[in-house]
Amino acid sequence: MELVFLFATVATVFVSFVDGAGYLQIRPPSANQCCYEDINQAHFSYDRDFCEGPKDWCRVHPCWTTCGSQRRQSPININTKETRYKRYSRLKFDNLNTRVLANIKNNGHAPDFDVDGKFDDEITLCNVPRRPKDKKYNFAQLHVHLGRDENKGSEHAIDNTFKPMEAHMVFYDSDYDGVGEAKPKRNGLVVLSVMIEVYGNNHENNECRVDGTCKVRFAKKLSKLMEKYYEKVRHYPMESFNPDFFNLLGFQRSNSCTNNNCGRTPSPDFIEERCEKEEQNARSVRVTEGITPLDVLPYDTNQFYTYAGSLTTPPCYETVQWVVYKCPIKVSSKASIQLQALYDLI
Ligand SMILES: [Zn+2]
Repeated sequence: MELVFLFATVATVFVSFVDGAGYLQIRPPSANQCCYEDINQAHFSYDRDFCEGPKDWCRVHPCWTTCGSQRRQSPININTKETRYKRYSRLKFDNLNTRVLANIKNNGHAPDFDVDGKFDDEITLCNVPRRPKDKKYNFAQLHVHLGRDENKGSEHAIDNTFKPMEAHMVFYDSDYDGVGEAKPKRNGLVVLSVMIEVYGNNHENNECRVDGTCKVRFAKKLSKLMEKYYEKVRHYPMESFNPDFFNLLGFQRSNSCTNNNCGRTPSPDFIEERCEKEEQNARSVRVTEGITPLDVLPYDTNQFYTYAGSLTTPPCYETVQWVVYKCPIKVSSKASIQLQALYDLI
């Protein structure tokens, strides 16, 4: 059955740097350093006044030059007046009811629930807009972004309106071995995005709240996962974390690095040689319940905006087809508090 979907053109208003998105409230004093040779040392922050901040991401490491691109950087503000309405077939998931094994680790920004290993009954996605219909993408991870300002933590905005948080479900082209291999590749990724509100403390007794044209589902399972596992990884540093690394004298305010390649995309050879991070030693915690995109998907999955964009954090590769659902979900206030309490440890 063909269903009606919303479609956003790429010609939406560009929001280059969304203040605070991905920001964790508690951050150690940062290294008084603005650029790095070794990709494993490279660090970025969301502090706009600091030399590792968003406008300077492209200067921090030669692998991150794409962050200065003007072509198709995400996130964006979706100006609905500029969107074009188009019919697409329904996104097709396989094994959506399977809960797949996962681990969570604190990556210092938006902790990932990572799918662990390969399965026969892998969760897959096809019918992706603007990609071949039968092209298959494997579910790799989900994570939630929040902001410095509690009410404006989403990365994308719809008509300049932010939500408190935003969940991303990352899928990679199944021709590749994993998300790491796929992410620099042309059309390598699809990310499904869901805006998140916080369940009011007035304990609404309906599971779904009607908000404009949206029914807002209470994402009970996602709330439970966030409540339980963010607490477990709150203080989990990298094994190699060395507090002496941080210079307590203060921040470097402007980036004086000489990398002038901002906006260029590194060559595939360069990426292969220099840009693959070693497996992080961050201790991870097993998510015993497993995860499925069902934990995150909104009540109404028929309406979404789609555009060709990028990763929203370094290396900012422009390889993502974004699907931003129109309708939000909500999570418990405890889940939101647990996310805010995480330490940024790297
Ligand atoms: Zn994300």
